[in-house]
Amino acid sequence: IFLPTRRNARGFDLGDIADLDCIEGARRPFRDRDFRAMPITVIPLDPEAAEWRPMINPADPDDTVGLVRDATATEVEQAITAATPWGASPRERATVLERAAELYERDFGEIIAIVAREAGKNLLDAVGELREAIDFLYYYARQAKCLEPAPRGRFACISPWNFPLAIFTGQVAGALAAGNAVLAKPAEQSPLTAAKGVALMHEAGVPQSALQFLPGDGATVGAALTGDPRINGVAFTGGTDTAQAIRRNMSQHLAPGTPLIAETGGLNAMIVDSTALHEQAVRDVLASAFQSAGQRCSALRCLYIQEDVREDFMEMLLGAMDELRLGDPWRLSTDIGPVIDADAAADIAGYIDRARGAGRLIKQVNAPGSGHFIGPTVIQVDGIEDLEREIFGPVLHVASYRAQDLDAVIERINARGYGLTFGLHTRIEDRVQHIVDRVHAGNIYVNRNQIGAIVASQPFGGEGLSGTGPKAGGPDYVPRFAAPDTPAVAV
Ligand code: GLU
Repeated sequence: IFLPTRRNARGFDLGDIADLDCIEGARRPFRDRDFRAMPITVIPLDPEAAEWRPMINPADPDDTVGLVRDATATEVEQAITAATPWGASPRERATVLERAAELYERDFGEIIAIVAREAGKNLLDAVGELREAIDFLYYYARQAKCLEPAPRGRFACISPWNFPLAIFTGQVAGALAAGNAVLAKPAEQSPLTAAKGVALMHEAGVPQSALQFLPGDGATVGAALTGDPRINGVAFTGGTDTAQAIRRNMSQHLAPGTPLIAETGGLNAMIVDSTALHEQAVRDVLASAFQSAGQRCSALRCLYIQEDVREDFMEMLLGAMDELRLGDPWRLSTDIGPVIDADAAADIAGYIDRARGAGRLIKQVNAPGSGHFIGPTVIQVDGIEDLEREIFGPVLHVASYRAQDLDAVIERINARGYGLTFGLHTRIEDRVQHIVDRVHAGNIYVNRNQIGAIVASQPFGGEGLSGTGPKAGGPDYVPRFAAPDTPAVAV
């Protein structure tokens, strides 16, 4: 009998009341739990070596999710010294990563609860987060088995808060699948979620010397890791500016040729032409621009609508925005949760205020008063060249174009130098090919939303200012973490 290899996480049907009850029962015990995280290194640490910092729920200033004790410079130094590549065979490594995936499934209620409270993710996003983390574990485990990669040595993995479990786990699992010793630095805003992932990977059998956990900020922990000559590779997901700073630090202190695997920002566009099905395109624009409060590097930032249908389309889009429910991410009815923290909220609100002052604000949905909420916003622009920079929140820019200017629009999108996602809504098949051949983007989505790439099916990553490649969740990812002369063993 042929038993297909398991490809993706089990998941849940959020339209099924039985699944919802099951999730609710599993996450409820963690609604008020007080979580803790501190560095985990081979050497036992003094819990009081630095101050404990409170992690506050971005949706609710009265909910302290827990406390984190960041790593000190000395601890980072000691962890690098103690890091030892994982001696197990590729097949054994794969078995351990698969066991970790099972443990993630076992503890789904706790994971969904921490992600909701620490990162402000609603249920849809929290479940997506969990599933993607599990998918990465299974997929990279399979690559370990198939490719039998040999390690490079010590890998620093520096991950973002917007996917505090999925991207954290993906980077770490990719590096571990190749047998490296990993030094993992989660984002300052989401160490509690990441600590849970580390605990499960250790429980599954990853040795502590192969996976050490170093919460803290970029200036202390990030800079120490990316500036230490004993580091043999860096995986980073986050802003383009930070990636460039890491590149500079690495080029000063690390051996030439040390890989930097960076996934960075985007100024992602979507084109809706006059043949698009309005209802579908509106639904996909809302998801692409506003799901996860726009805090995805894949999110839609600049929508181009063919001028002939602009009026009708905008009426439908603005009307649909009134149906979006903002609020407590824990509530099942919440479509859009908060942005990550006060700094993010102030930055986005300032940007929206400037657009309002310039007379370019088309609409902003009302947001709850307490918590870091930003109402989904639409801003009028002439084209993508009017976007100052990537605004990492629920802000959609809208432009219109004439049919005969389509190629010029694509040139202007490409000219911004990013190349992450691109969306297209059309019912003309030749036009799909015409545009796909011209647009520079790592992930192109046609007649659907442009977020939520699925591991293994839709490898995710961009070009230009959006990243170095290889794509996460794709066949080239683990080989990049492996020694360059690793013999690739055929499946
Ligand atoms: N992989 C995610 C998606 O497809 C985006 C990752 C990110 O924001 O860094 O939506």
